Amino acid sequence: MTGTAIVIGAGIGGLATAKALRDKGWHVEILERSTHSTALGSGLSIAPNAVHALRRLGLDSAFFGKGRRLDGLEARLHSGTRVMRVDSAALTTKYGEGLYAVERAELHRLLLESIEDVPLHLGRRVIGVATDGPRAAATADRRGQQGGQGDHMNELPHASAALSQDSISAIRDDAHAPLHDNSHSGTASDNRHVTPTSGGTRAVVTVDHPDGPYALRADLVVVADGVHSRLRQALFPDHPGARYAGYAAWRGIVAASAAAPLAVRPVLAETWGSGMRVGVMPLRDGRVYWYAFDTAPESDLPAPDPEALAARCASWPDPIPALLAATAPASTLVRPVHYLAHGLPSFVRGPIALVGDAAHAVTPDVGQGACLALEDAVVLAAAVTDYGVPNGLRAYDTQRRPRTERIAQTSGRMGRALQGSTPAAARLRDIAARLTPDALNARFANSLYDWTPPTAGVTAGWQAEPEARQPH
Ligand SMILES: Cc1cc2nc3c(=O)[nH]c(=O)nc-3n(C[C@H](O)[C@H](O)[C@H](O)COP(=O)(O)OP(=O)(O)OC[C@H]3O[C@@H](n4cnc5c(N)ncnc54)[C@H](O)[C@@H]3O)c2cc1C
Repeated sequence: MTGTAIVIGAGIGGLATAKALRDKGWHVEILERSTHSTALGSGLSIAPNAVHALRRLGLDSAFFGKGRRLDGLEARLHSGTRVMRVDSAALTTKYGEGLYAVERAELHRLLLESIEDVPLHLGRRVIGVATDGPRAAATADRRGQQGGQGDHMNELPHASAALSQDSISAIRDDAHAPLHDNSHSGTASDNRHVTPTSGGTRAVVTVDHPDGPYALRADLVVVADGVHSRLRQALFPDHPGARYAGYAAWRGIVAASAAAPLAVRPVLAETWGSGMRVGVMPLRDGRVYWYAFDTAPESDLPAPDPEALAARCASWPDPIPALLAATAPASTLVRPVHYLAHGLPSFVRGPIALVGDAAHAVTPDVGQGACLALEDAVVLAAAVTDYGVPNGLRAYDTQRRPRTERIAQTSGRMGRALQGSTPAAARLRDIAARLTPDALNARFANSLYDWTPPTAGVTAGWQAEPEARQPH
């Protein structure tokens, strides 16, 4: 089946899901609270599992034009001793794809450009999402009357959603440019901008607006509003939400001219100190992306001053000190790292599904957050198209929760162990890393990378109830 879908959030998870649904014939619209692109100054490692997802999205060729294929992945101790190495060639033999580095903004732009026909409404902050029962729908249609099921719909001062496409071309012209959308007319009488095409339970989202919130309905709502998802909190009020991982992430990109003399090797190389890990990987155009995970209280994060970090890392192996020193402060970010320490009881509530960090924010220790969001997108679109919304979302939940939860837990544990927050913990980590057999590293890589998109529907390990199954 196909129908109408609203995607909330235009990050990698939201855009990829919009693309996957659009490709299956769904009418999709995206609501994004931000009025400008925030994909600033950072890179992503894209692993074989995500390359398979990109291929399913029809974006692999475009991605290969943006990403840089890396020779591998390695970890070194502060002394420079290498303790782990995974070769891209071995990954390709085993998983059919290698490891890539890409600038986050490039991947974001690639996804945006692939769905130019999908309306993207910027400056639209969603403040509520609910299953739309008949009583709530009636209340909303009576525009602002009280009563009904107690959701936001009951208090809408008006119901309008006439949105123009101006802002969409703006973001597509330049993902870094500030975006404006003055298109909210406040006059349309039909609040069903996204008109459902099928029967059964629909979802309703409430969008904030200076003139008062308004409502939109669709057959399917995809919540892709990131690690600090307010909508997750509304759907699962007992869930404790995101937790601070205990370290901040510095991120920076060094200009190609400054990086050239450093001859950075084409690997993702992470070096471990005490309370600090620094990773380096070159991008396609000669620029170099680096990150540093820096143990710090959340209330006292370091200022984004690469010179200060370079001074702290002066004795680290090459090319780290020189790279940090060559980074412009304007292309340096410091952000606390948050993740979901506890899995959600479900990724689904009625016709509403969570994807990406909203569903399963993992720490960056295994470089899988965006990769898993891409996986979510292709599984979700296949499932709801093959089985219809309720059964398809059950299949999506069954397929995605065990894998993402396992990876989230592994990543969190690795982060705590690898961060070596005290010198004693760092010494123990180094000894353990030296003793870890290659076979164990291979098993670990397998748990991340051994994934391909569903081929015939999404049936592996799950069957729709026969009477409810929709025709293909
Ligand atoms: C330091 C660091 C390094 C990382 N490195 C890697 C890596 O190498 N490889 C990898 O695969 N992953 C990596 N990740 C993880 C990856 O960045 C995330 O998992 C991924 O970006 C999540 O995408 P998302 O679309 O789910 O969420 P987001 O990118 O957070 O997007 C959410 C979107 O929703 C919007 N939004 C929020 N609330 C609302 C609302 N109420 N209404 C409308 N819109 C809303 C936001 O403005 C935003 O645009 C890293 C993460 C960190 C922190």
